[in-house]
Amino acid sequence: MTKPLLMLLCSALAIQSGVAAETSAPSTQASPVKKAPRAKAQATNPLLVKSTLPFEYPVFDKIHNEDYAPAFAQAMREEDAEIKAIANNPAKPSFENTIVALERSGQNFTRVSRIFENQTEANTNPALEALSGDLAPKLSAHQDAIVLNEKLFQRIQTLINQKASLHLDAESERLLDRYYADYVRSGVKLSQTDKEKLKSLNAQLATMENKFNQNVLKEMNASALVVDTKAELAGLSKAEIDTAAATAKDKGLDGKYLIPLMNTTGQPLLATLENRGTRQRLYEASINRGSNGGDADNREITLTLARLRAERAQLLGYPNFAAYSLENETAKTPAAVNKMLSGLAPAAVANAKKEAAELQKMIDDEHGGFQLAAWDWAFYSERLHQQKFAYDDSQLRPYFELNNVLQNGVFYAANKLYGITFKERKDLPVYHPTVRVFEVFDADGKSFAIFISDMYARSNKRGGAWMNNYVDQSALFGSKPVIANHLNIPQPPAGEPTLLTPDEVKTAFHEFGHALHGMFSQVRYPRFSGTNVPRDFVEYPSQVNEMWAVWPEVLKNYAKHYQTGQAIPQDLVDKIIASGKFNQGFTTTEYIAASLLDQRWHQLSAKDIPTDTMAFEALALKEAGVDFAPVPPRYRTPYFSHSFGGGYSAGYYAYLWSEVLDADTVEWFKENGGLSRKNGDWFRQQLLSRGGSIDPMQSFHNFRGRDAKIEPLLIRRGLN
Ligand SMILES: [Zn+2]
Repeated sequence: MTKPLLMLLCSALAIQSGVAAETSAPSTQASPVKKAPRAKAQATNPLLVKSTLPFEYPVFDKIHNEDYAPAFAQAMREEDAEIKAIANNPAKPSFENTIVALERSGQNFTRVSRIFENQTEANTNPALEALSGDLAPKLSAHQDAIVLNEKLFQRIQTLINQKASLHLDAESERLLDRYYADYVRSGVKLSQTDKEKLKSLNAQLATMENKFNQNVLKEMNASALVVDTKAELAGLSKAEIDTAAATAKDKGLDGKYLIPLMNTTGQPLLATLENRGTRQRLYEASINRGSNGGDADNREITLTLARLRAERAQLLGYPNFAAYSLENETAKTPAAVNKMLSGLAPAAVANAKKEAAELQKMIDDEHGGFQLAAWDWAFYSERLHQQKFAYDDSQLRPYFELNNVLQNGVFYAANKLYGITFKERKDLPVYHPTVRVFEVFDADGKSFAIFISDMYARSNKRGGAWMNNYVDQSALFGSKPVIANHLNIPQPPAGEPTLLTPDEVKTAFHEFGHALHGMFSQVRYPRFSGTNVPRDFVEYPSQVNEMWAVWPEVLKNYAKHYQTGQAIPQDLVDKIIASGKFNQGFTTTEYIAASLLDQRWHQLSAKDIPTDTMAFEALALKEAGVDFAPVPPRYRTPYFSHSFGGGYSAGYYAYLWSEVLDADTVEWFKENGGLSRKNGDWFRQQLLSRGGSIDPMQSFHNFRGRDAKIEPLLIRRGLN
């Protein structure tokens, strides 16, 4: 029960994203409580039986759209019955008959939910989108019925009271504490009237978050920039122009060019578009998403979400949503997060202003006659980078062919660190022909995980990069992990190689860091498996794994020219490393601005919710001292999915928070000789394998031999 669905929204600082799916008409799906022919459903619905494929790998080839609604209906009924049986058990409460029984409950529900959630993210269609909207309030009600069950809570309370006499091992004791906290935080102690209020708030929130996310997708598609002439695209490569023409043609805009938008405020082509007018139009299309009026406008929805979250937190006894949410994180309080963000903001903005002055000088030297604007930053910054370091991304890409990056880079580094090896499994079904599946073997030759690699952008895949679990490792179930990574690399025309940008390479390593966290899990209870750790800790292992992307031994192994096979020249490697701190003022400022916005919205009490979304955003940025026009926040409120779509609400700060641990860990690897089995095994043993089974800051301490220091982060980001 109450197993969180894992989906890590990744790469706060290096996102590559794609084009999202069209959403659909209102749902016409049958209600999950409809009386389906149960026996038949159970016998034939592939979602309701354990897969017999290795590692319970999903039977993607046998699952159809129409299987989900009846599977959810039945899985929820089953879980309800299991919960009832635990709550009404005539035997005295014991750890086994209550807590372990809860861990064992809802296995069909977990399977159905995981597959459904992952497919709506990575391979959606109108039927799934409709079902998702229909299900949101029902799933919320289902969850409430479990966590607000008083009889069940009484059993947990009894166990908590007897804890000292239960003689539990450390992981079991932690599990009991966790369940108790989950139930209290879910409102089980509220009066009946307040419980009804809470249920209503939960259902409204689920529906509104779903609507927010669907609007973000709609607006990303609808705001793609239409360009009439090739001349306006000067600066783009022939391949980019061809792709823009083909994309336009697909949408019935023959003879024109279409530039799809990425998730973030900044758009990749801003770096090379020479026509200032085109840049401005592309930028404005991006920042106006969700505030254009019409059906998919998110301005009202963000106000409603902020209010509902604040009301919910207040009902539960917290001053605001951030206070409620952060209690469960390693940061613990809004004050701690505010302190970090406001402490780093001035230095970051000062750096950004220095960078802006350099860019303005370039403009002035060329008699540009204009002030640097947000849509100019990437373009001039790219040229300044060229001047300073004498290379640009286009020179690197031929060395970053996708399969080389994956097998000779990402997998190679993992092999050197942990001794693990990979074997492609072409016999396992996939939901899209470009998806690849690998079985993962430990140093002793034992197979221990399945890794799914889904790298390409598709029109039915959401933007960004993320990792998720189909199956969790757990000793209780004897289950081994099935883990997927998702990126959004544009697919080249047939016969062309897939050449990655440096950001995409970094993202591939990042997501694989999450995958390792999931795959190396060695815990007893599924509640603690792999990445089931606080959100402000979970980005830490993935960020650490980014270090290997530019580690010389790794880089030399994968960065080979796709035509000549020649290794990347040493002087180019040196330049990449030397340019590490370039543009950090911009990167850190846009990130801190978004993090501050996320906090400001969620530190409001219900009575203080403003009436004008964009005016509040402007004021919040100004008051925080990050309202520097050439550096807008990485996401603006109406398309800030991390913050309003669920998942990272009041938690966007987590990337920088975890980076403190990351930067300190990178120092540790360097101090201890870098890429070696000895180092990898220690990190795996003390940290990656522990999941949520021990306090995460304790596992860091055990690994590092002390608490984290912030200095390595300050140096890395030029904030010292
Ligand atoms: Zn991540």
